[in-house]
Amino acid sequence: MSALVYLALGSNLGDRLANLQAAQKALPPTVRVLAASPVYETPPWGYADQPAFLNQVIQVETDLEPFDLLKMLKSLETQLGRTPGPRYGPRLIDLDILFYDDLVFDAPGLTLPHPRIEERAFVLTPLADLAPDLRHPVSGLTIQGMLQRVDRRGIQRYEPQDAGG
Ligand code: ADP
Ligand code: MG
Repeated sequence: MSALVYLALGSNLGDRLANLQAAQKALPPTVRVLAASPVYETPPWGYADQPAFLNQVIQVETDLEPFDLLKMLKSLETQLGRTPGPRYGPRLIDLDILFYDDLVFDAPGLTLPHPRIEERAFVLTPLADLAPDLRHPVSGLTIQGMLQRVDRRGIQRYEPQDAGG
């Protein structure tokens, strides 16, 4: 049985758009992308003194169990060139599991749903493009409802400069 999962992708170093695309391309056959949100440029969070992020959310279907999925994502982060740094600090790529079906789970190293969804406009904005009516299994709030409670200032659709038009 496969699970429906939402993954958050973030990058604020190097070719940020290429990093997001490389992460999606490098997913194994056990993780199939069903939908991808637009990309947003978002102000840094945590440490303010770092480059702006590009953020995106993808909906995937996977046969991997939660810890196997996390392990795969962490090795993908390393493979794509992420080196250890401060939490919330600059990074080539950050891959987080937002929801894994409606699983509620808390263990060292893995909390589901991701514990900071409700406070992060940079996650809620792209997530609302894919699943506005999805409900948080603990709070019962929808993505749209959570988005209305956060500060969305500074978050904008990212248009690459050579996109034309
Ligand atoms: P950030 O909180 O900025 O994403 P890291 O990417 O360094 O920071 O992640 C810190 C740790 O959070 C990871 O090592 C991972 O074990 C843990 N973690 C707990 N829950 C999750 C989740 N739902 N998705 C991704 N990582 C998680
Ligand atoms: Mg992370």
